[in-house]
Amino acid sequence: MSSISVKELLEHATVHKYGVPAINVFNYESVKWAIGAAEGERLPVIIQVYPGFREHIDLKYIADFTRDMAAKASVPVAVHLDHSNTFEIAVAGIRDGFPSVMLDGSTLPFEENVQMTKDVIRVARVFGVDVEAELGHVGTGSKLEDIVDAANYTSVEQAVEFVERTGCDSLAVAVGNAHGVYIKEPKLDFDRIAQIRYSLSIPIVLHGCSDIPDDQIQKSVNLGISKFNIATEYDRAIYQAICSNVKPEENKGSFFRLQSTAADEVKSFVVRKLRLLNPNNYSL
Ligand SMILES: [Zn+2]
Repeated sequence: MSSISVKELLEHATVHKYGVPAINVFNYESVKWAIGAAEGERLPVIIQVYPGFREHIDLKYIADFTRDMAAKASVPVAVHLDHSNTFEIAVAGIRDGFPSVMLDGSTLPFEENVQMTKDVIRVARVFGVDVEAELGHVGTGSKLEDIVDAANYTSVEQAVEFVERTGCDSLAVAVGNAHGVYIKEPKLDFDRIAQIRYSLSIPIVLHGCSDIPDDQIQKSVNLGISKFNIATEYDRAIYQAICSNVKPEENKGSFFRLQSTAADEVKSFVVRKLRLLNPNNYSL
């Protein structure tokens, strides 16, 4: 039985100076492969679901089987609902059985973000659910200003006030990171990361980790960030693994066989990320 709460896992990771990959999943195999890689490495992992995919897969259904797989895993596995940008989406995630949800009010003015985060936390506490919040806005890698404009970055002073007033369990920060594919190589603001880490006592989360250079990721781990969201790169790894295994003579026109042959390549991708995020060689 190896379910663990996101809060407990990230607090442990912060103390022991390792990063936990939070892998975005969308079907049974994408969950199975990520957990399988973590079990092989004897390291914890977070499995998370983007609520925008609810048209593709029922969120209660994926929460149910992912929690079940987490409970049966041989390493600690935490389950989380990613970017909920309204009160209703976050609370629906709690209703659907996610033990942890993100409430993203980062596009709202500060006071409204505080209020919406507090509203969700009030409900979450009744159900013992963890809440990740966001301050500063993590934008899109395809927009240059979203990457380089420090006006979008998390203010250290505001972060202290935000955490104090909301009581959130972890905080996603904007420090030069962005979602999706970057049009320009990101340059993370390490001074800001260090100041935020020094000023807050809760775990810190980095979104948009796909394609951030390895040295910057490892430096972020060593500066005390503990959750690293990986969506775009994982999706791409699965796509490439499927493409490179399309060999009709071997798969005999069977999608089941094709999917099975892709498993090793996908797991290798997750293994590489687990090792990258573990520069100080933590082991269970
Ligand atoms: Zn994000």
